[in-house]
Amino acid sequence: MTTTTLPDFKDINPATPALEKLIAEYDAIERDLTAAASDDARVAAVMRWDKLRRGVDTWSAVTQLRFEQDTTNPAYVSAKDLRDEMSPKIQDRDVRIKRLLLGSEHRAGIEKAIGGHAFALWDSDVAAFDPRIADQIVAESKTESEYSKVMAGAKFEFRGEKLNLPMLRKYMTDPDRETRHDASVAMWGYFAQHGAQLDDIYDRLVKLRTAMSRDLGNKDFVALGYHRMKRIDYGRKDVETFRRQVLEQVVPLASVIYEQQRERLGLDELMAWDEGMFDLNGNPRPDGDHDWMLERATQMFAGMHPELDSFFRMMQDHHLLDLKSRDGKNVGGFCTSFPDCGLPYIFANFNGTKGDVEVFTHEAGHAFQGWKSRGQKMIDYMWPTMESCEIHSMSLEFLTWPHMDKFFGDDAERFRKMHLTQALLFLPYACSVDEFQHQVYENPDATPAERHGMWQELERKYLPQRKWGDLEYPAKGGRWQSQMHIYGGPFYYIDYALAQTCALQFWVRGRENFSQAMTDYIALCTRGGEAPFQALAKGAGLTSPFSEGALDAVVGHARQALGV
Ligand code: ZN
Repeated sequence: MTTTTLPDFKDINPATPALEKLIAEYDAIERDLTAAASDDARVAAVMRWDKLRRGVDTWSAVTQLRFEQDTTNPAYVSAKDLRDEMSPKIQDRDVRIKRLLLGSEHRAGIEKAIGGHAFALWDSDVAAFDPRIADQIVAESKTESEYSKVMAGAKFEFRGEKLNLPMLRKYMTDPDRETRHDASVAMWGYFAQHGAQLDDIYDRLVKLRTAMSRDLGNKDFVALGYHRMKRIDYGRKDVETFRRQVLEQVVPLASVIYEQQRERLGLDELMAWDEGMFDLNGNPRPDGDHDWMLERATQMFAGMHPELDSFFRMMQDHHLLDLKSRDGKNVGGFCTSFPDCGLPYIFANFNGTKGDVEVFTHEAGHAFQGWKSRGQKMIDYMWPTMESCEIHSMSLEFLTWPHMDKFFGDDAERFRKMHLTQALLFLPYACSVDEFQHQVYENPDATPAERHGMWQELERKYLPQRKWGDLEYPAKGGRWQSQMHIYGGPFYYIDYALAQTCALQFWVRGRENFSQAMTDYIALCTRGGEAPFQALAKGAGLTSPFSEGALDAVVGHARQALGV
């Protein structure tokens, strides 16, 4: 495919599919699959289904994106509502075809043409869903939104301003220590006030999820949680091995890093409200505006590799970047893609902070992978599972290091140290979130008070530096309630830590041999999701986070880079 034949973003306007016509097409594909007399005919039917899904996915992605770009446009809002209404019906038809293929007596012939990994993925989909639990899934999602409502309802009167939670959080990294402390007092006061309600929401979620998983024949929710994440080539014992390595290697390193931070800040004690402050100079900021950033990014990618260079020029030529903040545009940053034509799209909200560079390099990693894997045979192989997706984004954050001078000038080295520090300190925290969820779902009858006790223990284990001082609510084990993934995305959080462990290995490789690191990175991106996590990692020469020694080189290089 040459880039000139690709559409401009403004010309990607898929019409809303007529549901009846779509269902009729699904019926026809099912009929043909069942009636086909040869493997060729069956594979042809599978490929028709694949094309249908690409069309539906493209329409769905564009609908979502237009809405994110202007949440006040009534036409975009109603298009998204219609999509949300149609999606479960379409998903149901996809699952029917997956079941049909999984149970087919001709499975071997189809596998030969499209590969076995798609079948493994569908196995997970089918194991995670059954019409028997449909009502419970609806109830689960309603209960999850109760949590979002409590969070969205948080309003604070702080130093004469009316603030919501994200606005208040900014004060928690204020250079003034008293401000940080007071903002923390305000935030945890809100959690204390709503603690019983948050406990009740979580208790109902735990019971509901456990019941669902048992209805499907599992002993606890961990099994269903892993199926939902499509974890094919590892299980809970492997994740346990990973957490142990973080405990043994990163927790001691983290203590030294925190001690160094305490000294830099000139404090007697590093309190919880000081942890977000890297040094007394504040966060480095990029030296220019949006257009300047794009120009710098173009130079950066050109300096890294011809493939990244042409990719980024293509993204600009086809108007696949929306990076400026504006009224009506939703917050946040993400990458989406249009599988019909193989184009990715980056959405962000630049606000002049170092986060702009971080979000941009992160999402560019996702987009580059989406672009490189556009030639994959099946839509199932375009994006890998979540922990593998984040390798591409987090690794690019590290591989762009040599070019950070372009954005931060004299502050580039400080930016790099902060980035590495945050990446390392994230690992123990992610492990505490993950182990907590294992304990909770393996003991679903524990009381809310016992859950707070579990968290408190885990905090002592993974975050021994943590000093809550006079913040009573988190001091008694309430910190986990501010982590939304624990409510809305069970077992998802550790994926970031698994990916970070791989990304840190790319960082080490980049330091040792940059061009080799780029070659391996591009090869990994091109594989998209054609294999499960460990197979992709090993294929790229990475040590699986579940193998002993996965963090050895990383910790050694980090100590040297940070001088600890
Ligand atoms: Zn990401």
